[in-house]
Amino acid sequence: MKESEGFVELDDYHTMGQSSAEYHPAWDYAPNEDPSLMSMEAYEEAFPPAQDLAKKLGMGSISLTFIEGDGVDNHVARYINGTSQSPVIVLADKVEDQSEAILTLFHELGHAYVDAAGAEIENEEEVVEEFAQMAFGQGAEKAIAYLDGVIAEQ
Ligand SMILES: [Zn+2]
Repeated sequence: MKESEGFVELDDYHTMGQSSAEYHPAWDYAPNEDPSLMSMEAYEEAFPPAQDLAKKLGMGSISLTFIEGDGVDNHVARYINGTSQSPVIVLADKVEDQSEAILTLFHELGHAYVDAAGAEIENEEEVVEEFAQMAFGQGAEKAIAYLDGVIAEQ
């Protein structure tokens, strides 16, 4: 049913979307060969708004890949540094609904934007989480203006 839009399995990696970045999660992460259906559905629903936000941030196609384990550095997902032109994001299968999946992807796109700007932000975690909440609740324009403001202060 969702074959054309959902996750596809390639060499044990469940992946959605295609990045033009020269990076494959297999370089650093083992695959989650059997991600939870709940997380897969949540991310499938979160993908279009995340891709839309990425476009507004001046980025290309995003790709999502489930990896083994509960997460990376206390995150349920991780943006791969250096892929901001076409962000690669790896995922644990730990989100439970669409809103959580959207906020997670928006947060990671915040990291991607900071990376693209070459900025060093002291409290980057708090800033990108605020960015994600704003993008979710108040729209992309306001969130991007906020993040631009923080980056400009550095
Ligand atoms: Zn983070």
